[in-house]
Amino acid sequence: MTLAERAYLPAIFQGLTITMRHFFRAATKKQVTVRYPDETRPFSPVFRGLHVLKRDELGRERCTACGLCAVACPAEAITMVAGERKKGEENLYREEKYAVSYEVNMLRCIFCGLCEEACPKAAVYLQADKMAPPRFERDEFIYGKDRLVEPVSPDKRSKRGIQLTPEQAEKLRQKQLT
Ligand code: SF4
Ligand code: SF4
Repeated sequence: MTLAERAYLPAIFQGLTITMRHFFRAATKKQVTVRYPDETRPFSPVFRGLHVLKRDELGRERCTACGLCAVACPAEAITMVAGERKKGEENLYREEKYAVSYEVNMLRCIFCGLCEEACPKAAVYLQADKMAPPRFERDEFIYGKDRLVEPVSPDKRSKRGIQLTPEQAEKLRQKQLT
């Protein structure tokens, strides 16, 4: 080896040249990162995000606490407690049985959508434009009914309350046909 090779100088300069070349190339390229959560990337049309428990066209909760979504869930992320609808609660719950509590553990969930597929009442959906926001505490990822049930329309003039989207209505129709 020559004296320069023994001092590793050629290898050091070669390495620095490659580093500088990539450094300046990256600086002139379009930024590929986003400042999440302040910024988010556009969602894919088939994105499956945060769950929502839907209401029917009269604003009543659709879920009848049958437990099929929990059985279908491969991550065992869903738990619920069923209750009997009382007299006078017909405007709150569509079926005679309803979910007193319904929880999804977003840390377990893999957003596969099997709960949505399994639901016979078109009650649970994964939203295409929302995901669970970052939190510091693990228990903040347990989503209960307070955060899952679709809010009642603030538009008091609408007696029909929450509407299904055309896609959801079609899915419900298909389920009713089978
Ligand atoms: S999306 Fe998949 S993993 Fe998440 S709760 Fe539903 S069935 Fe379970
Ligand atoms: S969300 Fe659907 S499948 Fe799950 S308990 Fe309610 S009605 Fe049953």
